[in-house]
Amino acid sequence: MRADLLARAIARQLEPVSDCAAFEAKCLVEHFCAAGIDDIYLQRELADVPSARLQEAIQQRLQGIPLQYILGEWDFCGNTFYVNENVLIPRPETELLCECLADKMSPGTYVYDLCAGSGCIAISVAKATGAQVCAVEKYTGAFSVLQRNIQKHGARVQAKQWDITEAPDGSFAPADIILSNPPYIAKGELATLQREVQREPQTALDGGADGFDFYRAICRNFMPLLKPGGYAAFEIGEGQAEGLRQIFSAYRHIQTIKDYNGIERVVIFGKDS
Ligand code: GLN
Repeated sequence: MRADLLARAIARQLEPVSDCAAFEAKCLVEHFCAAGIDDIYLQRELADVPSARLQEAIQQRLQGIPLQYILGEWDFCGNTFYVNENVLIPRPETELLCECLADKMSPGTYVYDLCAGSGCIAISVAKATGAQVCAVEKYTGAFSVLQRNIQKHGARVQAKQWDITEAPDGSFAPADIILSNPPYIAKGELATLQREVQREPQTALDGGADGFDFYRAICRNFMPLLKPGGYAAFEIGEGQAEGLRQIFSAYRHIQTIKDYNGIERVVIFGKDS
């Protein structure tokens, strides 16, 4: 079967559930038929079309399962990460969090990634800068994805299973930088999220009654571990920048960065030396 015709046929099937059916169809053809994007554009014949597996994938997608979970992997900051229903799917706007303090990181820098999930932030930062990163994750299902991703990338990342709402014990070293993309959706808004997002772990999305529970926990439990002169950067949801400045009012507000949709997405604080 010709790669482009197969992709087009799949795209037609996915149109009822996807705004980017053509893109998703190309991803499925590439993944399941071991094809490259050039096979589709150059209209090549595919040697191997596993029809049953493709049909199963299409059915899953029609039922609202996100493409990323069907593929079992997704790209973030130029790296490919394992993903499954135990972790949040890495999102392009989160790349801002990885980039925003990269110029302050080097092999001597100690960094925490709190609520690490798949480890996409911790591993991307460690690979790009050589910094030593401690990735902290509470849930066992997510923690095993994190460990698999660390192994896959051979990254200089230590995985630590810990609930960040608990005060850290003596095994937590002082840090130069804290990064976190914690759950930040207000509980009442969870039911309004898109069908695919509903398939993501609620524990990775639910930020408590006002959405700020995890920022408060980090401020209370982990900011004391930040060395004087250190920085903390957080991803936030739309409209949360002011709330964050209030929670972290004991620290210097360095910068709020907008994402490519013009939404304030990352807030950086500094601890005076
Ligand atoms: N840090 C992970 C990510 O950005 C998980 C975030 C989360 O579970 N809220 O993908």
